[in-house]
Amino acid sequence: MSQSLATVAYLGAAILFILSLGGLSNPETSRRGNLFGMIGMALAVLATVFGPRVDAAGIAWIIAALVVGGGIGLYAARVVKMTQMPELVALMHSLVGLAACLVGFASYVDTSVQFQGAEKIIHEVEIYIGILIGAVTFSGSLIAFGKLNGKIGGKPLLLPARHWLNLVALLVVIWFGREFLNAHDAGAGMTALIVMTAIALLFGVHMVMAIGGADMPVVVSMLNSYSGWAAAATGFMLSNDLLIVTGALVGSSGAILSYIMCNAMNRNFISVIAGGFGSGGGTPAKKGDAAEPQGEVVPVSAAETAEMLKDAKSVIIVPGYGMAVAQAQHTVCEITKTLREKGVDVRFAIHPVAGRMPGHMNVLLAEAKVPYDIVMEMDEINEDFPEADVAMVIGANDIVNPSAAEDPESPIAGMPVLEVWKARNSIVMKRSMASGYAGVDNPLFYKENNRMLFGDAKKMLDEVLGALKG
Ligand code: NDP
Repeated sequence: MSQSLATVAYLGAAILFILSLGGLSNPETSRRGNLFGMIGMALAVLATVFGPRVDAAGIAWIIAALVVGGGIGLYAARVVKMTQMPELVALMHSLVGLAACLVGFASYVDTSVQFQGAEKIIHEVEIYIGILIGAVTFSGSLIAFGKLNGKIGGKPLLLPARHWLNLVALLVVIWFGREFLNAHDAGAGMTALIVMTAIALLFGVHMVMAIGGADMPVVVSMLNSYSGWAAAATGFMLSNDLLIVTGALVGSSGAILSYIMCNAMNRNFISVIAGGFGSGGGTPAKKGDAAEPQGEVVPVSAAETAEMLKDAKSVIIVPGYGMAVAQAQHTVCEITKTLREKGVDVRFAIHPVAGRMPGHMNVLLAEAKVPYDIVMEMDEINEDFPEADVAMVIGANDIVNPSAAEDPESPIAGMPVLEVWKARNSIVMKRSMASGYAGVDNPLFYKENNRMLFGDAKKMLDEVLGALKG
């Protein structure tokens, strides 16, 4: 394939990626968005493999790598549960970061292309920055993976003078950058690169370790953005235009998503980038006292729940992580259908960080074929709770916690939440009095107008559905 044909193919792929991102912004167009992304990626891979820069021996290596990588990807896609997606995404971001580091070191030791003068400086700056972003993304994403799958505790690790530590690390990285650019031989340059890489790896660990469990969604999307910039840096090192464009698309869309999520959680974007995020406002989540039940609750049965739903004119369902764990979305859809047939107005309220990844609840409800027009975002529906007869919370906890709005000392203080307690009645469906992801107690459970339906969401909803139909 000639260079100009490869360039046209890259341009086509870049346009398809932009259309893909546009499609993914809405559940109704997301399938088409995915399709555009897949076609764009296939085009990009083919144009690269058969492009002018790959020879026959290279093709064999690429095919071998495709088989191994594709096999692992296929296996992961089959076995990973929806609730484990954020961990998988974090792990994949770490691979992008690792790739940027490896490409950076390989570009530095590659003597087949000799740069001179300003070109040499630009190439070395690309390498230095590429490895820097790659190493932070790599170690930060691995820690995020550990935190999301529970192998590392969710509590923020707050080292004394951590902001000063970060500042010193930044200054040392800049100083070694100067040493790297002024290095007279490859050995000296390599020493500077290795020291910088070690500092960047430690910075990535430190940055994500300092972030509280409840704030992890923003971190995942921020690391998504970092992985985009790492890919763009790799594109500069390899002089690959498509990688630069794609990396910039991922980098900027990840940054925009982080910004939107920060707003949804009332956090400051700058403090996220600086690390230590989610620990400044309130006290960190304590499993001990903060998570202790602090009052009396009123349990209800599935039959009583069915009665309350049947008698209601307006019901708002709030799904959360527990619905995903129990895979109760299909039963939820059946209940919705049954209630609507009885003339009850049923709507869904979706919190931006419900579940364990952005859009988690939308994906599950779409899979169960809940109509899009009754699925509302938090801002669209929060004011309607006082008019609702029943707010039914299914396996959600932090996103309906009134202490976020009422208790300035709460670890989740300031996070906008779905105000279910303002409904005439609320029913919370969960297995026990255990706290949610943020590890804080939820005063909603003890409110006078709240009832608790204890049990696995799928099992209890099956019983509710049976009672509704019976
Ligand atoms: P939470 O984690 O706050 O609460 C989920 C509740 O579901 C738990 O209290 C649990 O209680 C209950 N539950 C678990 N399994 C079942 C089951 N089988 N049947 C019934 N109930 C069950 O989830 P939310 O959705 O309310 O909030 C999301 C939290 O996750 C937020 O803190 C958010 O910041 C964080 N997060 C979000 C991410 C995102 O991108 N969306 C990513 C990472 C974290 P019990 O054990 O008693 O059943």
